[in-house]
Amino acid sequence: MSASIWEKSGSVAAKFWNEGRADFPVYDMHGHMGTHNGIYMKRSDPESMAAHLRRAGVKHLVFSHHHVLFGAMRNAEVAEICRRYPDLYRMYVGIVPRYPENIREDLAMFDKWAPYAVGLKCLADYYKVPLTDPSWEYALKFADERALPVLFHTWGHSKYNGGEIMLKLVQTYPRLKFFIGHSLYDEWATAERIVKEGNGNVWLELTAIPGEYQRIEKLVSAVGSDRLLYGTDLPWFDEYQAIGGVLSAEISEDDMRNILYRNAERIFGTEW
Ligand SMILES: [Zn+2]
Repeated sequence: MSASIWEKSGSVAAKFWNEGRADFPVYDMHGHMGTHNGIYMKRSDPESMAAHLRRAGVKHLVFSHHHVLFGAMRNAEVAEICRRYPDLYRMYVGIVPRYPENIREDLAMFDKWAPYAVGLKCLADYYKVPLTDPSWEYALKFADERALPVLFHTWGHSKYNGGEIMLKLVQTYPRLKFFIGHSLYDEWATAERIVKEGNGNVWLELTAIPGEYQRIEKLVSAVGSDRLLYGTDLPWFDEYQAIGGVLSAEISEDDMRNILYRNAERIFGTEW
């Protein structure tokens, strides 16, 4: 093998390529679990996902279960899965706007699910209910009062969770920690605006982005690496593909570390 990009990319990347894991913990801030009716995924059960995560050196995956998001399972069952893997899994309490009673019941349990439940997940595109609809309000106020993270599925130009909607939300909830899933994909200028209009409470999350040439570089120069969070949508994407995308980006090693673990540790601490 010739003197390669591996060496030029510096020791963080070289260590990962050569040893299969980094010399720091990686936190994957955007995961799922379980089968999905739209696609076959070979590795979607807790056991095989755990093996993959451990092999790649991921310390925690924060996930929302597909079956919760589709209304076929309750968050209490997900807390039980987390209890079987206390060192690995953390959960976003999935919020389904069509079941207001479930939302109240589940959020009343939030503290009992510590340390596993660390925030909420809202996927408005699935239900075609905009995030500004009153049916989300109880959950968002709950998160705002407690300054909790909420991972929002976002996508550029969506009328349910696109830029216009997210700008309104950032102005409405000054304490809630906005994790902008997929970084408002394809509405990049608005994503930057949302971070800048926020109250220091907005992070862009990278799921679907590491495979796109130079997008990470552009995001780092637009908002700074301290505003970016690593995520994969596991089991939809693979840890190696996504970590490799971050480590292959033309950014500094400090930027890589911010994205892969330091920002998460600033939010959650080093023991969570
Ligand atoms: Zn997702």
